[in-house]
Amino acid sequence: MAGSTLTIDLDAIAANWRALAHASGHAEAGAVIKADAYGLGASRVGPALAMAGARRFFVALTEEGVLLRRALGPGPEIYVFSGHMAGDTGSIRDHALFPLLNAPEQVARHQSALPGHPFGIQLDTGMNRLGMEEAEWQELSADLIAAGPRLIMSHLACADEPDHPMNATQLAAFRRMTDGLAVARSLAATGGILLGPDFHFDVTRPGVGLYGGLPFANARPVVHLSLPVIQIRDVAAGETVGYGNAWAATRPSRIATLAAGYADGLIRAMTGRAQVFTGDTPCPLVGRVSMDMMGVDVTHLPTAPEILDILCPAQGVDALAEAAGTIGYEILTALGNRYERSYTGAAA
Ligand SMILES: *Cc1c(COP(=O)(O)O)cnc(C)c1O
Repeated sequence: MAGSTLTIDLDAIAANWRALAHASGHAEAGAVIKADAYGLGASRVGPALAMAGARRFFVALTEEGVLLRRALGPGPEIYVFSGHMAGDTGSIRDHALFPLLNAPEQVARHQSALPGHPFGIQLDTGMNRLGMEEAEWQELSADLIAAGPRLIMSHLACADEPDHPMNATQLAAFRRMTDGLAVARSLAATGGILLGPDFHFDVTRPGVGLYGGLPFANARPVVHLSLPVIQIRDVAAGETVGYGNAWAATRPSRIATLAAGYADGLIRAMTGRAQVFTGDTPCPLVGRVSMDMMGVDVTHLPTAPEILDILCPAQGVDALAEAAGTIGYEILTALGNRYERSYTGAAA
């Protein structure tokens, strides 16, 4: 029997990139494809975005950059958010990766290990996650600017909330630290692009919007996930389904058991809250989501389904996330590696 199928529309990813590039105005749109392109496969997504016109790629870790370089070949710039970490020197050099240096120790490491090798700079403007603090930057900026960084960037903590005062605070800090420098600047991820031109600077860094997720509400859907039915049974009123007897039938019911569970990223928090679909018709999950399976009430369907969809036009990534009490980013990056991944679109 066929397993679950995760279909990834590379044309939709390219269209989302073009839309976010357009929304970036005069700035050049890069592409964030960390965490294996948010779980969708960087070795397929990267070349599709390069074909669409992306020239600057961003990953979280040097190891991700190495794999991406193999997929992209020479040419596109690959920036690494975690910067130049101990042990990364050989990979950074051999695969022409550009570390985004985030602390004085990384600056020292990079300048002694790979003098002359291209790099970028990360500044902290208030998120307190990665990047040099203002005082550190003041100390080092003259030397670093003289060395010709490819990019100076910072990251917004609250860009998905347009009215949040943190956006203006971080924008002011970024300008204070970088105005007047002759270096390309980058502040906006998906949310920042949508905040408008003040946030765009020279390069934008869209991630989740490429993959169809909020806050890019106009994104084209990218993923479709179909789960096969293993078995269907009739249960009488009063019978229970699944671990812990967490659900009991209140009427005679037909229950389908689907071949995916929390080991596939369909997290246990979906229990009792998420639905699957056949076309537009919803079917509620019943009983606890278990590791490899979940139960679904299909009593109302006229025919026994062979496949039910959990990501589809009727329920996108963010709707499923809402039902699971999480965000689209986490749904995407949790999608397990037991799915057969199938790519569609001209770039496939
Ligand atoms: C993940 C990330 C991005 C992309 O953010 P999205 O919200 O997915 O668009 C951009 N910049 C940095 C530093 C990131 O960590």
